[in-house]
Amino acid sequence: MLSKQSELYSGKAKTLYNTQDDKSLIVVFRDDTSAFDGVKVEQLARKGKVNNYFNAYIMQYLEEHGLKTHFIKLLSDQESLVKKLDMIPIECVIRNITAGSICRRLGLEEGKELEQPVFEFFLKNDPLHDPMVNDSHIIVFNWATAHEIEAMKNLTFRVNELLKPLFMKNGMLLVDYKLEFGRFGGEIVLGDEFTPDGCRIWDAATREKLDKDRFRKDLGNVIESYEIAAHRLGINIP
Ligand code: ADP
Ligand code: UDP
Repeated sequence: MLSKQSELYSGKAKTLYNTQDDKSLIVVFRDDTSAFDGVKVEQLARKGKVNNYFNAYIMQYLEEHGLKTHFIKLLSDQESLVKKLDMIPIECVIRNITAGSICRRLGLEEGKELEQPVFEFFLKNDPLHDPMVNDSHIIVFNWATAHEIEAMKNLTFRVNELLKPLFMKNGMLLVDYKLEFGRFGGEIVLGDEFTPDGCRIWDAATREKLDKDRFRKDLGNVIESYEIAAHRLGINIP
């Protein structure tokens, strides 16, 4: 049985620990909730647990549908065992409906259904506020190769093909989401998390927000809303 050894990294919402196996890590989903690149931070009770179960469900769903992820198994309410990836410092975003930064950047209204999904890359860098970058930046600055870029794009679109209908079937709109990938044994594998912290989910009928925008915009009932989304997907959170 693998257990937590030295701390590898502690980020804004999760802490990673080395294990006795140099190919796997234990990730702890904490209750810390942050927005605006760490400027707004609060502890929200149950968040770590809700996100851990939410992430496990989605990662397993993606694996069952042939997509390689870092997820190995749930270990406890707030801990999961994952493959240790060599992370690519790039965020891959897909948008099905306008919201968030694309509205601010391009002067769009929130809530416009896009004719086809929009794909964007951002550099993972809080002091620089995660600037948008393109394929050319990624290659020239050696963040990833052209081949890896292609793989990340294809996998991000594949996640949309799998998850958009999953949310829709359960009365929700998958508005947008952010994915992070890493290298493992020569392959590009989905890492990090898929939880309401890193995507936008709206009730399909009322367009009520069931994601971190409730925290960003002080709408209240943040974790209650994450739990509504989880419950609708059939995720059992003890
Ligand atoms: P942040 O670093 O943005 O504050 P988190 O608190 O979520 O975010 O920290 C998790 C960190 O762990 C992120 O930097 C992410 O890139 C990294 N990470 C996620 N999954 C893995 C993995 N399987 N192997 C190595 N690093 C990972
Ligand atoms: N996102 C994220 N981490 C980031 C930036 C964005 O998880 O550092 C997610 C965010 O929750 C949303 C999507 O990526 O689901 C697109 O975010 P956007 O570019 O609209 O930025 P925001 O308005 O959230 O700052």
